Amino acid sequence: MIAVIYKGKGKFSVEDVLIPEISEDEILLKVRAASICGTDLKIKEFGHFKNPDDKPIILGHEFSGEIVKLGKNVRNLNEGMRISIAPNIGCGHCRECIGGYTNLCEDYEAFGINIDGAFAEFLRVPSRYISQGNIFILPNNITFDEGALIEPLSAAFNGTEAAGITPSDIVLIIGAGPMGILNLILAKLRGAQKVIVSEIIPERIEIAKKFGADFVINPENENLKSVLMKLSYHRGPDVIIIAASSGKAQEDSLDLIARCGRIVLFGGLPRGKDIINFKPNVIHYKQVIVTGTTGSSVIQYRKSLELAASKKINLNELISKKYLLPDAEKAFSSAKSPENLKVLFTI
Ligand SMILES: [Zn+2]
Ligand SMILES: [Zn+2]
Repeated sequence: MIAVIYKGKGKFSVEDVLIPEISEDEILLKVRAASICGTDLKIKEFGHFKNPDDKPIILGHEFSGEIVKLGKNVRNLNEGMRISIAPNIGCGHCRECIGGYTNLCEDYEAFGINIDGAFAEFLRVPSRYISQGNIFILPNNITFDEGALIEPLSAAFNGTEAAGITPSDIVLIIGAGPMGILNLILAKLRGAQKVIVSEIIPERIEIAKKFGADFVINPENENLKSVLMKLSYHRGPDVIIIAASSGKAQEDSLDLIARCGRIVLFGGLPRGKDIINFKPNVIHYKQVIVTGTTGSSVIQYRKSLELAASKKINLNELISKKYLLPDAEKAFSSAKSPENLKVLFTI
């Protein structure tokens, strides 16, 4: 089968490899759609802390497919079922895992990070994915393409849930990449009175407008703080979600946030650039909550799937381009390009 394999920092290759064997407790999935995530782009360039020896690994953690083979001990699933899978599994017995937060397990593993992932024709699904409730049968009205996008949607579900958005909130989203746009869509669905986006790249400013941002501010052309004050009855945004890898944006957020506001550090910072100047007194005197999110829990994945099936969100609108696996190089460079949101492999 064809697979896109990480080969150490800066490299991947498209190779013909054997279809994986499965045990009696596992599933073989025929992958049908898999989308490229910012994390895949980062792994390709810098590796991942969960793969310290830079082992070759098939990339891809946002995907859907069809069960083509079942181990004889697997119950309640059948060949031919259309499924998607929450990509993180935990140790199974720590406090986080028991609570369903396998994304927060200290020993988590994930497809495309330290388990062979979905940029391949077939995927072996280890038994823990089945026992930890990570397998989701796709409703008939969810296509494979949409199924692949449940994972990024669920990450934004986590971010907007942590922000505790209510109808009176004025929300600022920093960054209008795919994750910023998903946060924008969900902030609106959660009823925010106004969602403002801050973005400097012209193509992305247009995208944010298209997806319903009430205001889009380019902080290179306008004074972000004074525009925000005008738009928020001079209190600043109640919620700031930073969907960009920017320490500067994190620092500025404390200055911009309203009293009793909530700041969500949604994007991580690159290694070596992960120290910022933080004024704790601002948190103290403004009574601000600063939190962060990473990935999503299994229940958040499930809720996101239901939301997609309700058609209150049209995930197809986020798909900019589709490629076949042999064109992985082109697909990756197109995923980096600012005019594109999600780039998918159809398999
Ligand atoms: Zn992802
Ligand atoms: Zn655990």
